[in-house]
Amino acid sequence: MIVWQKEADLTRQNSLGFSVCAERYLKVEDLEQLRLALDEVKANNWPLLILGGGSNLVLADYLPGAVISVGCQGVRVLADDEDQAIVEVGAGENWHGFVGKLLEMGLHGLENLALIPGSVGAAPVQNIGAYGVELADCFHSLTAYDREQDELVQLNAEDCRFGYRDSLFKSVAPGRYIIWQVRFSLRTVFQPRLEYKALANHLKAEGIGQPGAQQVYQAVCEIRNSKLPVPTLIGNAGSFFENPVVTAEQHEQLKLQFPELVSYPDQPGFYKLAAGWLIDQAGWKGHNAGAVGVYEKQALVLVNHGGGDAQQLLQLAGQIRDSVQKKFAVSLKMEPRVYPG
Ligand code: FAD
Ligand code: NAP
Repeated sequence: MIVWQKEADLTRQNSLGFSVCAERYLKVEDLEQLRLALDEVKANNWPLLILGGGSNLVLADYLPGAVISVGCQGVRVLADDEDQAIVEVGAGENWHGFVGKLLEMGLHGLENLALIPGSVGAAPVQNIGAYGVELADCFHSLTAYDREQDELVQLNAEDCRFGYRDSLFKSVAPGRYIIWQVRFSLRTVFQPRLEYKALANHLKAEGIGQPGAQQVYQAVCEIRNSKLPVPTLIGNAGSFFENPVVTAEQHEQLKLQFPELVSYPDQPGFYKLAAGWLIDQAGWKGHNAGAVGVYEKQALVLVNHGGGDAQQLLQLAGQIRDSVQKKFAVSLKMEPRVYPG
């Protein structure tokens, strides 16, 4: 038996802190509840949003239909040998809590992804990444409910089609799969990943030459805390735009025009531009438009100072996109999902 919460207030369940009301909401604790809920959704043809921590979503004031959160909990080791272990984790676990737990268990690979808000279940959706590591680097497989086939399926890395902040779940078949459990392949011996200057420099400044796992985890947390707004204090959805990837030819032209351009080699023949730098150069850093604005320490983050809504934020995002297009002839693509779309 399931009981939907009617006219549910989701203001505390979206990191932008928008005042959001769902027509009906349910947190499912087991697969039986999930099946019952999906039967009702199907029978009534309700639009459905699967909600994790709400940290990569721009939600409208009213969400018609149904919103379901996955409550599946638990972290367990499925197999381990000398070098690696396979760990299974429930989609409802908090991501950062899981990373901390792995550290305590002496299992490595996800330290650079510390402090990313949200749930484990949403992490494969955009193949979360930070400081040179992405979820796909340690991914083993996952269990999801396939709404098209009405059955549980096991998907491996290839099935998930991970790309740069992208996956099957985000761009190929959005809404089809409900992720229930995720399995990771983790190392028992720590190998630091310090390709990102910000991370390497932070450790160097602390006098740490050969960092251990705890030190890398700690450094990532410190850098993030110094640069990013804490959603409970200032509403935000992290990076609002993806870093655009341009051809080497376009990159060369931009570099001639803007010698300070911040860019990184990507696939052969392509460069990744730092979207935050483009937005900053277009003059938006620290700009406010009523209740919403551009974070003063990181231009890639749009914020809600309190009382803002999706309409205001998307209007500001549109203005930013237009001005970057005009100045650099580069298109910015939004990273968070707007719902209803
Ligand atoms: P939600 O916002 O609730 O949902 C995101 C999407 O996933 C939605 O489409 C939703 O329908 C879908 N979804 C959620 N759960 C499931 C499920 N169980 N099954 C299927 N679909 C599901 N992202 C990065 O990649 N790197 C970062 O470094 C990073 N830093 C951030 C910092 C801040 C301050 C903030 C606010 C955000 C940041 N993000 C970052 C974005 C965000 O935290 C991640 O995308 C995170 O994985 C979203 O998790 P969530 O549970 O909040 O998902
Ligand atoms: P940053 O260190 O100021 O760097 C700016 C951009 O340059 C980043 O977006 C990053 O791309 C890129 N970059 C930096 N060093 C690089 C290198 N050695 N090789 C390739 N690309 C490099 O970025 P930041 O805003 O403080 O964020 C730090 C990390 O956390 C980044 O990895 C970022 O993606 C992640 N983050 C993500 C979100 C989100 O919501 N998605 C929010 C906050 C932070 P990448 O983004 O491709 O890494």
